[in-house]
Amino acid sequence: MVSNSNYSKASVLIVGAGPAGLAAAITIKCKRPDVDVVVLDKAAGPGEHNLSGAVMESAPLHKLLDLALPEWRQKDKTQALLGRRVTRDDILVFLGKNASVSVMPAIKASRFLHLCFGQMIHHNDAILSISQLTAWLAEIAEKVGVEVLYGFAVEDIICDSAGKASAVKLKDQGLDRENRPQPNYVRGETFAADIIMLAEGSDGLVSESYIRKAGLQRNSPPLYSVGVKEILQVSPQQYQAFGDSRVVHAMGYPLWTPLLGPGMFGGGIMYSMGENRIAVGMIVGADWKYFNFIPQDALVRFKEHRFVRRFIEDADVVEAGAKMIPEGGYWALPRDPATGSVGRQNVLILGDSAGFVNMLKIKGLHNAISTGIAAGNAAAEALNSPGETAQLYTRYLETDGVMKEMRSARNYRQTIAKWGNSIGIPLSGLGGLLPRFKVERDYQAMTGARYKWALDKPFDKDAFIAAGRIEQREDQPVHCEILNPNLCENECASTYDRPCIKFCPAGVYELIHGAMKPANPSNCLHCKTCENKCPYDNIRWHVPEGAGGPHYKTM
Ligand code: SF4
Ligand code: SF4
Repeated sequence: MVSNSNYSKASVLIVGAGPAGLAAAITIKCKRPDVDVVVLDKAAGPGEHNLSGAVMESAPLHKLLDLALPEWRQKDKTQALLGRRVTRDDILVFLGKNASVSVMPAIKASRFLHLCFGQMIHHNDAILSISQLTAWLAEIAEKVGVEVLYGFAVEDIICDSAGKASAVKLKDQGLDRENRPQPNYVRGETFAADIIMLAEGSDGLVSESYIRKAGLQRNSPPLYSVGVKEILQVSPQQYQAFGDSRVVHAMGYPLWTPLLGPGMFGGGIMYSMGENRIAVGMIVGADWKYFNFIPQDALVRFKEHRFVRRFIEDADVVEAGAKMIPEGGYWALPRDPATGSVGRQNVLILGDSAGFVNMLKIKGLHNAISTGIAAGNAAAEALNSPGETAQLYTRYLETDGVMKEMRSARNYRQTIAKWGNSIGIPLSGLGGLLPRFKVERDYQAMTGARYKWALDKPFDKDAFIAAGRIEQREDQPVHCEILNPNLCENECASTYDRPCIKFCPAGVYELIHGAMKPANPSNCLHCKTCENKCPYDNIRWHVPEGAGGPHYKTM
């Protein structure tokens, strides 16, 4: 890396030190040790902004480790991180608050018949902590010579109208609330590179900016879900009763009942994590229509269900967090309209930033790593002609099977968004025989309907964010912007009762002296739900200065 006080340059620059970005960095450095590769991440340290299920198909990671760390199978760390394999895999439907029924026989029959629902089986996948996996990948990346720099928030990309990028712009550090430089002020430098990879995770700020500037197009609007998750410390007896290598996915209550509503897409998860810990989460399609819906209310209702309660009653919350998951799948991948590439010229979009999640599997981690490997291979080959990197990357995605898998699940989520669960889920079984149904953005789905299982007592969001170890410097410009406060008062208040106050999992938005404000920005979990769920599309999330936000350790 070349650097002076306000300018740095690398051959390859990667925005985001998650599994996709690090897989790309490791691959390039293994293939071309002579090339300088820099990864920038806004988190304070490795894995601190990484949250996912996380159940992972291991083959792409094995491929990466074979390349970078041939002796990985003999390492103690490998066993500690990847040793827990799914031996018990349950898919249930919760029928009200107490009853449940297994649909696993039907899923197994689907696999036997090569129907799409067969993809839902998780047997032999690894159950792991994504924040710990990411920290390990960062260690490996540094060992092979990658520079991984934490605490650097990227706010934009500099590119021409043809999509050729020259640099990214880092966020200023050390401004006060009114944008005045303080003694610790550091101007955000421009970081130039020959090839730029965007691997920021779901709904990445720079990725979306690039998609607009370069004119990339999606065949279907992006759809998201909101995931809220807790790691619970249970008793040894409860853990033993649950099982050490078990995953549970549960549809139905409290998100969906066939006739009487509610009718939200999603469900609850339970994964064994070792050390008497169980991860419990709720993933809710962000196209929910209930103005009073709070994702954590559904998590609490899930935890109260008789099936779940017996394993977690009286457990302590070790860690908690929230994120959005890109659900739009194959049709929502941002592509160059001329070439079909995921990115353009010398800019590549990886992993969740592009939306490489297979919602039939409810998994994207394997694809994130595969896109990283594909991007790394493309960059290693195209360094002398960087303008061809995005096309080469996309060819690798085709030959490596990533696109084939994404295509196989291509109509699932849009069919359910269009027809609802009761019709959409069975209909989606027709897979590729279906047309691509037109869907709207998540925020357009809001109505005046009320979620009937809202908690009687408000959920304790302060305790939730404390468990996420949120730390963000208070005295900095507010990074959550309400574009038109008049809309809040003149329209939203009477129509939807200001839903951002409720749906923000961190309680950032409040009504202060009759005006809506992002009153607690330093609580922000960086989930970006607000930007996608305000029914008037009236919120913009800007990146805060680096090193703030969650400090996940075991997610
Ligand atoms: Fe409503 Fe959006 Fe204003 Fe919140 S920011 S009150 S959701 S219009
Ligand atoms: Fe998520 Fe927005 Fe709330 Fe931050 S302010 S926690 S990004 S919904």
